[in-house]
Amino acid sequence: MHSFAIPLRRMTAALFSGLVLAQAGTALADVSPLSIRGNQLLAGGQPASFAGNSLFWSNTGWGGEKYYNAEVVGWLKGDWKSRLVRVAMGVDDPGGYLHDPAGNKARVKAVVDAAIANNMYVIIDWHSHHAEDYRAQAVAFFEEMARTYGKNPHVIYEIYNEPLNVSWSGTLKPYAQAVVDGIRAIDPDNLIVVGTPNWSQDVDVASRDPLAGTNIAYTLHFYAGTHGQALRDKAQTALNNGVALFVTEWGSVDASGDGAVAQAQTWAWVDFMKTRGISHANWALNDKAEGASALVPGASAQGSWSAGQLTPSGALARQIISSWPGVPCASPPAPGQRCGP
Ligand code: MG
Repeated sequence: MHSFAIPLRRMTAALFSGLVLAQAGTALADVSPLSIRGNQLLAGGQPASFAGNSLFWSNTGWGGEKYYNAEVVGWLKGDWKSRLVRVAMGVDDPGGYLHDPAGNKARVKAVVDAAIANNMYVIIDWHSHHAEDYRAQAVAFFEEMARTYGKNPHVIYEIYNEPLNVSWSGTLKPYAQAVVDGIRAIDPDNLIVVGTPNWSQDVDVASRDPLAGTNIAYTLHFYAGTHGQALRDKAQTALNNGVALFVTEWGSVDASGDGAVAQAQTWAWVDFMKTRGISHANWALNDKAEGASALVPGASAQGSWSAGQLTPSGALARQIISSWPGVPCASPPAPGQRCGP
């Protein structure tokens, strides 16, 4: 005989599982919905700033793809205190999404799913220097990502890594508006970050002719061995014009990706980002033999790296990320010091 009355024991179990769910809900506050107000990123409606890692190009056979897995993401969250991870999905170069869509998309999803499981933000980056040539493919890809992940506050869409020296208003803005419109027809609110001319340096140019729409930020990239005050001045102009910036990629070395760590310029950039509440991801979580790599060649593809397996760039990035304040600072704090409430 079937009874529809719920036995007391099962009710108690239901109440208990409700408590467990409530605790899980508290942990999810790590990933409040992001929005943009003026030139400031907000999380759950409050000014916020996040730091984490960019993975290397996802391209099949390039070497960085071995770090696209859940073990690495979990280690970055636990050991580096990373709040975000960036998926740099190669597009038109050999081994990229246009050549191996299944392989690259599987890597993207492995990292995005792991970031969601670890309560981290995750940037899905269309890692191209020629995205305007593949606009239809970009719209279709981001529509798919919006359908799959648009209800997750964790996901950030980065629709063009680094344009070359091409027109903002004539070429890049029309591309970006098409991709933004495609995403927004499916996902009304998740943050979209838009690449700017000259390897995502001319944020001042974009700020004079911004896109229509909400929750849009503009990409600023710097490499401290090459870029200093002149680029910070351009960034400040953009902020003064009322647009928000997101440093989806930065290095402590030369713009080539190689060279030695530029300590003083890196800390000048860190102060700039801390006092303006700018979020950022360090390039790159990879073991290629070049200055920007965070890991020494042969470092495990499953995390658990010792201090000796971090390069000078990786050790500095870990120090910066693990002590990132989470809220904008009123004035530059000492290196490694937190600020704010
Ligand atoms: Mg959404």
